[in-house]
Amino acid sequence: MGELNTFPVSYKVEGRRIVIVGGGEEALNKTRLAIKTTAEVVIVSRQIEADFSDQPVTVVARPFTESDLEGAALVFVADHGPDGDAAKLAARARGIPLNVVDVPHECDFYTPAIIDRAPLSIAIASEGDAPVLARLIRARIEAMLSPNLGALARLAGSMRHRVAERLQGARARRYYEEIVTSPEIEVALVRGQGTAAAEAALDRHADAGETGGVVWLIGAGPGSEDLLTLRAQRLLQEADVVVHDALVPAAVVEMGRRDAERISVGKRKGHHSFTQAEINALIVRLGLEGKRVARLKGGDPMVFGRAGEEIDALRRNGIPFHIVPGVTAALAAAADTATPVTLRNVSTGFVLATAHGANSGELRHWAAIASAGLTLALYMGKSVAAETASRLIGEGASPAIPVGLVVQAGRKDRLLYRGTLGDLAAGGVDLADGPAIIFVGESIAHGDWSEAIALARSEFRVA
Ligand code: SAH
Repeated sequence: MGELNTFPVSYKVEGRRIVIVGGGEEALNKTRLAIKTTAEVVIVSRQIEADFSDQPVTVVARPFTESDLEGAALVFVADHGPDGDAAKLAARARGIPLNVVDVPHECDFYTPAIIDRAPLSIAIASEGDAPVLARLIRARIEAMLSPNLGALARLAGSMRHRVAERLQGARARRYYEEIVTSPEIEVALVRGQGTAAAEAALDRHADAGETGGVVWLIGAGPGSEDLLTLRAQRLLQEADVVVHDALVPAAVVEMGRRDAERISVGKRKGHHSFTQAEINALIVRLGLEGKRVARLKGGDPMVFGRAGEEIDALRRNGIPFHIVPGVTAALAAAADTATPVTLRNVSTGFVLATAHGANSGELRHWAAIASAGLTLALYMGKSVAAETASRLIGEGASPAIPVGLVVQAGRKDRLLYRGTLGDLAAGGVDLADGPAIIFVGESIAHGDWSEAIALARSEFRVA
């Protein structure tokens, strides 16, 4: 860590004036910052060049006089003429903090890049050295924070007295954490029912030894960290414990708080490190201990994610839970190959199914679905791909139906295969390692599979 030449503070301007000397674009830029506050913003300039008409400011169109600084909390000088010089002298004589636009060595203070979630503010400052970097960082932080955070903070503040009567210490803290992070409270707030939701949450926390434990079932997407939702990212940073599957990439698991506990319950094929019952028991135990648990699953938690069993266990134990959707593998595969899984006059529907352990009744059903033009996305089917294709043909699907296979969808190292159901049934192609989606349906022929390896061995192709 270096040493700072400035000290970041939140400076009170309520009931006072912010005086901006100058009437051009630079003055307008500072105005946009100043009006984020409740201070009276006063523009003084003999020449008003920029358009201040829709700014809530007082425009004084005449030369600067010392009395303009009466009651001023801050002064900005954005005037390079005699008025600017007079304002600088006057501000210094009165000891009012001064910012001279674009002249760092004359400034008492700099203006940071501001993230405004009033009453919450986040300022990113670079002592005037790297405003571009400060703005980039602001954009990243902006993306992490809900736009409703300020309103949630006010809601939390409005509950202060009622909370103090019913919850103490860590329990009160957990309550406030829920208010400012729970997607449900946020939705209620947006609908104008924030107070009712906050009161209901207070009842819940105050009743029956509520521990504050919560489990978030979070979809981590197909394996690229930038396919994670902003909500998933935010909750990951709240979590005390991250419980993740093997398919969740390390970079996503790393997004958790530095001091969060991380537990891998990876169920790679053949290595069952945790049974589903053990995972259910684990998240229930953590929830009962009052932990905030991020249960990270590949893709979307509700699609072949055994979420049903985990939800059931949480419900039975009265542990609050929330579900955060993720990009499911089949949709990542569709994106990778520009395949519209529904398409006018071609595919009127899209079915997510598992090839693993399917019985013949199910296969007959899917054969009919694929024959009717709908797109099938088969999960967990790579090791039984040829067999599944043969069985679908056996149940009446045409061997000519297009097939596309995406291994490692949504990741840089993805691999594609294309052909027909007949080609897949013939086997003979060694498919790459990694999880795969098998698409079956006419819509596949409308995607871009030009990079794909052909499933049929070339000696079978007639030129
Ligand atoms: N909940 C997950 C699915 C878990 S089941 C989701 O919504 O995507 C595991 C199966 O998902 C794998 O056998 C494979 O068929 C598929 N899968 C998961 N990640 C994948 C990926 N990146 N590429 C292709 N298939 C994937």
